[in-house]
Amino acid sequence: MGRKYRVGVIYGDGIGPEIVGVTLDVLEGLGFNAEFIEVKAGYDYYRRSGKVIEDDGINILRNVDAILKGPITTPLNVPSFRSVNVMLRRELDLYANVRPFKSFKRVSLRDFNIVLIRENTEDLYVGVETLVSGVAVALKVISERACRRIVRYAFNYALKHGFKRVTVVHKSNILRVTDGLFRDIFFEESRNYQVEVNEMIVDTTAYNLVRNPEVFGVIVTENLYGDILADLLAGLVGSLGLCGSAEVGDTVALFEPVHGSAPDIAGKGIANPISQLISAKLMLEYLAERFSDEVLTRIANALELGIKSVVEEGKVLTPDLGGSSTTKEVALEVLRRSSTYLGTHARAYQ
Ligand code: ATP
Repeated sequence: MGRKYRVGVIYGDGIGPEIVGVTLDVLEGLGFNAEFIEVKAGYDYYRRSGKVIEDDGINILRNVDAILKGPITTPLNVPSFRSVNVMLRRELDLYANVRPFKSFKRVSLRDFNIVLIRENTEDLYVGVETLVSGVAVALKVISERACRRIVRYAFNYALKHGFKRVTVVHKSNILRVTDGLFRDIFFEESRNYQVEVNEMIVDTTAYNLVRNPEVFGVIVTENLYGDILADLLAGLVGSLGLCGSAEVGDTVALFEPVHGSAPDIAGKGIANPISQLISAKLMLEYLAERFSDEVLTRIANALELGIKSVVEEGKVLTPDLGGSSTTKEVALEVLRRSSTYLGTHARAYQ
């Protein structure tokens, strides 16, 4: 029997509990040996308790092997509610936001395999704004330290995952000091890596991602540009419900869907669980690498193949992809296929 992992779980708001719940079932069904430790956090929890996260929550999350999180609502008109997502990134220093966007046959608009790596701790997200005499000002913070660690992360990621090219995306023709620093550090650091480099202005990138996404490999960019380009890429993949992400720090990492809490479809049992399942797959890969666990690598590969075959075959899909299946039916189908790839029978079917 291998290591038993300790996984922090935040169910989140809206569709979060539905898609996290079935994802835990799939992980257990595939034989992932873990203790799931729930940490209560989010807007629903805040409305019930007046707190955004339970008292010892951050401490618990600092001491687990990985965190699996559902989406959390950040309401527009509740100034006392601090964004849990931004708070977790800052408290746990999850500086690299890694979003793999891989097309699916039949579903995606184009054929591509792009990994968007977004700096996750600063830029306009430091949230320092003022309004003086009718003039609103927001502070954009770009530090040399944060630039260096994110571009190094991107180069190392590209080498490790077999990507030939890393593109830095910025707007340094206008923001010469802030984006200029990001760009300069990218090129300075690139001298230490055997990988092809490229740069692109953010608006041109949006255009080119739609026109020819196949020319991109790894993209590294600042916080705000990464946020916007991620949704563009999710659109190209075919649905927000098909995109997962990793937020990685030096000691812990958190895995969650790219999308929000989708309140419009919450509680209906029709949310697409694939985004959460892909996030879980990224978590298994992270743990497999960190703890040199080949069993986890096999489970992650089987899960990826299971997801791909269900989505590309197109028979068991949720309504966002034109299907009529429920969240549970899709998750069970992924479990069934993944178990076959793994050479086992899904426990839920025994
Ligand atoms: P937020 O402000 O938290 O990003 P939002 O409602 O603006 O929330 P999303 O929650 O990302 O944005 O949802 C955008 C649209 O995509 C909604 O119509 C939602 O129903 C749909 N959507 C998001 N995630 C899923 C999913 N997993 N399955 C099906 N549809 C989804």
